[in-house]
Amino acid sequence: MSESAHKEPSQLRQKQMIADHFARLARAKQDGKKVVYTFVPGNLTELFHAFGVLPVYPEINALQSGMRQKSGAYIAEAEKLGHSEDVCTYVKCDIGMLKSGNIGPTGEPLPEPDLLVLSYTGCFTFMKWFELLKEEYDCPVVMLHVPYQGDGRITDSMRRYVVDQLRTELIPALESITGTRYDEARLQEALALSARAEDDLVAVLESAKHRPSPIDAYFGGVYYIGPIFTAFRGTQAAVDYYRDLRAEVEDRIAKGLGPVTPDGVLTEEKYRLVVEGPPNWTSFREFWKMFYDEGAVVVASTYTKVGGVYDNGFRHDPERPLETLADYCHGCYTNLNLPTRVEMLARYVRDYDADGLLINSVKSCNSFSAGQLLILREVEKRTGKAATFIETDLVDPRYFSAANVKNRIESYLQMVDQKRRAA
Ligand code: SF4
Repeated sequence: MSESAHKEPSQLRQKQMIADHFARLARAKQDGKKVVYTFVPGNLTELFHAFGVLPVYPEINALQSGMRQKSGAYIAEAEKLGHSEDVCTYVKCDIGMLKSGNIGPTGEPLPEPDLLVLSYTGCFTFMKWFELLKEEYDCPVVMLHVPYQGDGRITDSMRRYVVDQLRTELIPALESITGTRYDEARLQEALALSARAEDDLVAVLESAKHRPSPIDAYFGGVYYIGPIFTAFRGTQAAVDYYRDLRAEVEDRIAKGLGPVTPDGVLTEEKYRLVVEGPPNWTSFREFWKMFYDEGAVVVASTYTKVGGVYDNGFRHDPERPLETLADYCHGCYTNLNLPTRVEMLARYVRDYDADGLLINSVKSCNSFSAGQLLILREVEKRTGKAATFIETDLVDPRYFSAANVKNRIESYLQMVDQKRRAA
């Protein structure tokens, strides 16, 4: 597993973009830049760009540390400090990294925050995580309360509630740390750039409706969402990246090519799957190989919607700058109720002509895992397609049992074969 992996040009480019962002963060204090710590779901990146502020996403640091095999030691450090084995491993990885000198995953130091912005989109752990960070840093905290979509819709009063908080709490806090007045025109420019990148991202994700699919919408998908779910939404760099990525994918469709895997282009698509749940990061490549060795391609996934569900038609709208930010926060996957998630997954199975649903239930993420068995049964019932359940973790290497996971995937694909023969 150590030989170098095949990579798409877009994959190399996004890696460079993320590395450049970490380099900017390392220089932030000397460049006089202010820094905000915040989360991917419900992030308000365009607003930060309007103030020239740099965002740090703790869960991105954790997953990047996981992919670089650094998370195990950080988790051990956090557990030594008393954090239980059951706590979300992103949190423990982040706390362990902080206590080990706050050196980011690329080996460069991370700047301390000037502001903590908790945009609360459905995961209770977010709140506990920021309580821990609040104890570590001497800086103001803003918590944006985003109402849960309990009834599966956003009402005017929900939207107004969030917009009021943006106006009366977050914007004044950003004005105070930067000494800059809120400039709505700057925000609108960023939002217009977001919408352009979002159009191209949706085209890329929906390209998986083709046979063969030119992309893997889970393992490849996590690379595609990297720039837009982090520091680049609302920038020209994101517009350029997604335009070129779309062209790359359209070229593969024209040539009838399958997805690029670490072992080269997949030549035979035998199974088309929908996947629910985050991936395992510590054994990411080994995990992916278990799928592509069997000719299994993920054609749609919910994880690639965690920082924004754009394939339901939502786009950031520069004509309604604060309202659109509120709608975005309400619509994040972690803020959707179970019936909406079931409907979304059943639609994916149908629209992407998938053979079934695979749920990767992550031990430490209650936000995703709660209700997944119910989701599995409902999607099976509604689509008549086979569904299965595997268990791994995000960044804790102790919770990836390769033999068990491989067995489950192989038995599941045999079940898909049986269903096909019986049809
Ligand atoms: S519990 Fe899940 S959604 Fe919440 S912070 Fe941890 S990984 Fe993220």
